[in-house]
Amino acid sequence: MEVQERLNDVLGRIRLGEKAANRAERAVTLVAVSKTFDADAIRPVIDAGQRAFGENRVQEAQGKWPELKRETPDIELHLIGPLQSNKAADAVALFDVIETVDREKIARVIAGEIERQDRRPRLYVQVNTGLEPQKAGVKPEETVAFVDFCRTELGLAIEGLMCIPPVDENPGPHFALLAKIAGRCGLEKLSMGMSGDFEMAIAFGATSVRVGSAIFGTR
Ligand SMILES: *Cc1c(COP(=O)(O)O)cnc(C)c1O
Repeated sequence: MEVQERLNDVLGRIRLGEKAANRAERAVTLVAVSKTFDADAIRPVIDAGQRAFGENRVQEAQGKWPELKRETPDIELHLIGPLQSNKAADAVALFDVIETVDREKIARVIAGEIERQDRRPRLYVQVNTGLEPQKAGVKPEETVAFVDFCRTELGLAIEGLMCIPPVDENPGPHFALLAKIAGRCGLEKLSMGMSGDFEMAIAFGATSVRVGSAIFGTR
């Protein structure tokens, strides 16, 4: 199958998932995860009409997206990987959505860069729903306080929550937990679901799904 066919297949499954879950049509945005793929592999997906893309490394994204964004200015680029303080300036400059705000220090640095650059990427807080020691994210029980800190102390407009469930577990309870915490935070946007589980995520209320290999192939 060509990459455009795989994109259309994923989009079709998203629309069916919305119907099956009684969600509004187009309630769910597809973020096509293009990490490890180069500009030439990404262009056909842009040409097919896809506009939201996800990358997990700032430096890798800097190597391909400035040019792709010049070619197609309405691209919406999402950072979905961990962000280090020394990369925050570059991230604020390049990304339209940063989905991995996960600690006070990085939130402060992002807030400073937003002020300095006068550029306002949309922001999500990453939640470590599985309490995995190796994984980034705020602890579930600390999320409400952290979102409140971002809003009141730093003046950041947090748009939603993001999670990456443990690979070896049923993701359903993690999606349900993220939705529950978002409700407590007064947030409506949920970034959850990947190639293997995006339909389930839609059933649990995902408003965006991050799909890589089902579109671009195995990495
Ligand atoms: C790579 C990645 C994805 C996409 O994973 P696939 O299984 O290829 O769809 C989604 N979210 C994050 C945070 C990722 O790093």
